Amino acid sequence: MTRRIGSGKLVIATHNAGKLKEISALLDPFGVDCISAGSLGLPEPAETGTTFVENALIKARAAAEASGMQALADDSGLSVAALDGRPGVYTADWAERQWFEGDAGRDWYMAMGKVEGMLQAQGAEAPRGAWFSCVLAIAWPDGDHAVYEGRIDGSLTWPPRGTMGFGYDPVFVPTGREQTFAELDPAEKHAISHRADAFAKLVADQFQA
Ligand code: IMP
Repeated sequence: MTRRIGSGKLVIATHNAGKLKEISALLDPFGVDCISAGSLGLPEPAETGTTFVENALIKARAAAEASGMQALADDSGLSVAALDGRPGVYTADWAERQWFEGDAGRDWYMAMGKVEGMLQAQGAEAPRGAWFSCVLAIAWPDGDHAVYEGRIDGSLTWPPRGTMGFGYDPVFVPTGREQTFAELDPAEKHAISHRADAFAKLVADQFQA
């Protein structure tokens, strides 16, 4: 049986304020006392893994070891079938505007265009299947861990459509819908997303099994 989140505090191993808020809200109904890695002054480890599971575990383990408390981390990204799963764990890196010195930041339009350019280079008939993944990892200070993997399948459209959401949302059409993630009502996206899938698995295993 999987180890359960105990009564102590749970460190949320992210320095992203949006993710912290979202994860804390999802765990609130289960009486979990969340605290952020940022408020504890924990450093962010390098994400050196080659899979979402490895990177989520790197982040959760680093926070658990540094704080001596149970910790939860997530890792997510977009995989494109015709690109052998890329950008995958490098999803955020593909949006990095590295070449403009002093102009740090992410350009999602550029990143979406890069994926589209690679697909078009394969010809008009290239399959456009893609999926978002989200892995949630819990680590305990003694080395124990639990991992939950979520996924949503869909296809890529061009040009980008919609203004809601973030990242690659404007080019991703989930299977069975016509709207992109950026055109869907956020509540609808959150009900079917890769993150919702991973959370449902965590909740079922940690709080309902
Ligand atoms: P990380 O999980 O913070 O490493 O970031 C992964 C990257 O994947 C994000 O910066 C987003 O660009 C992308 N991504 C993850 N989930 C979504 C989503 O729901 N919509 C659009 N892009 C996403």
